Amino acid sequence: MATFTTTNPTTGRTEQEYSALEDADVDQVLARTAGAFADWSATPPDRRAAILSRVADAYDARSEELGRLIATEMGKPLEQSIGEARLAGAIYRWYAEHGPELLQPETLDPQGAEESLVQTAPIGPLVGVMPWNYPYYQVARFVAPNLMAGNTILLKHAGICAASAELMERILHEAGVPTDAYLDVRASHEQVARMIADPRVRGVSLTGSEKAGASVAETAAQHLKKSVLELGGSDPLIVLEDGDIDEVARTAATARLSNAGQACNSPKRLIVPNAQLDAFVSAVVEVFRQARLGDPLDEHTDVGPLSSVAARDAVEAQVARAAEQGATVHIGGAATGDQGAFLEPAVLTGVTEEMDAYREEIFGPVAVIHGVDSVDEAVELANDVPFGLSGSVWGNDLERAQEVADRLEVGMAYVNEHGTTLPGLPFGGVKRSGFGRELGRWGMGEFVNVRLRRTA
Ligand code: NAP
Repeated sequence: MATFTTTNPTTGRTEQEYSALEDADVDQVLARTAGAFADWSATPPDRRAAILSRVADAYDARSEELGRLIATEMGKPLEQSIGEARLAGAIYRWYAEHGPELLQPETLDPQGAEESLVQTAPIGPLVGVMPWNYPYYQVARFVAPNLMAGNTILLKHAGICAASAELMERILHEAGVPTDAYLDVRASHEQVARMIADPRVRGVSLTGSEKAGASVAETAAQHLKKSVLELGGSDPLIVLEDGDIDEVARTAATARLSNAGQACNSPKRLIVPNAQLDAFVSAVVEVFRQARLGDPLDEHTDVGPLSSVAARDAVEAQVARAAEQGATVHIGGAATGDQGAFLEPAVLTGVTEEMDAYREEIFGPVAVIHGVDSVDEAVELANDVPFGLSGSVWGNDLERAQEVADRLEVGMAYVNEHGTTLPGLPFGGVKRSGFGRELGRWGMGEFVNVRLRRTA
């Protein structure tokens, strides 16, 4: 029988095995989610909001337990893991507080009729496919607005996150979400495709790699279903001449090391004026040198292991290939430790257009630093990747920094900060970073029927 296995990336030890969904049971979960939709969609929004509010309370009250679980499951340092659990709770709370109002019908100018009304109605059961790098936050971004809207959910989490996926399901059910309105399905990729194709399912949202996104969106398109894709990124961080080089370097380096660099919107490419390149590189190298690698449960640890040995080996190979192709490795890049999935954080310069590392996403603790001679060159370089998730510009002249930020081909442009995510702000990208938006009122607009009711 197929299983999903959780492995502690710090020790390499297998933690637990979970039985996978049987092919014969796919139809049953589809029937259950479709059956639950009638009642859940008819539940008054205030009641759904009250349930989400209890979910938020549970995330707050259990943040330490939730944090410890993902620290051992995918290696995130404990403080960051607990912070993620609280952020997920804040997302449930935001939709609990704002959801009922966002679902209110809107009265339009009747233009000669008695009434013209726009209603926001749920569309039906949805499939969510989620990654391991922020196990709670990614799920909350999709689940909170859609449960609030009255849709039901089949959630297929990453194979390595079976334990946190199970705990999330329990929290939702204990808070009052009807059992079949949210089902954690340990499904194979083929079973996910069957679910998307089934007429009872009305849409799919995937956060993950381009390859997975293309596959899921293709199935959805074949069956005329809507998809939302939150994919990879290779975010630029541009420092202008008037930026505080030392301070920005330290902030950028720390951000790049967060979650061992495994964030879609981590500042992966740092772009600085050539005149300040050496000072900037030295400052980033220093932060990387001092970063303490270790057990995510140890409060002194800055950087944990990568999520798996395979993920670590892939990043190590990317750095080695960059070096072979002529890039300079200032520090790190090698696997380290006698067990687990640890990688020495690496700093690269001299990455040119012909090298793979110029355009591909590096999903680990690796900073690529580029020197440029002008702002135009900085913007051109920033946009010269297939991705368009987020980017940031740093400088003391805010108006000028905002002008440069406006030239970035991204879904989220920041000035003097990078990657801030809050429940009320839209999240999503352009180009190969995907399409659609999560969070805020935009996140609740993706899988709803914007329904006109006009009375003559
Ligand atoms: P991944 O391999 O694409 O996995 C993500 C999820 O998709 C997992 O649940 C995986 O299941 C599933 N999956 C993969 N191929 C599938 C298919 N053909 N059909 C159905 N499901 C499929 O991604 P990852 O390597 O774990 O995650 C890292 C990537 O996610 C990076 O590129 C990162 O930038 C991106 N990401 C984007 C955002 C964003 O908001 N834009 C946020 C976080 C991460 P299994 O685990 O069972 O294979």
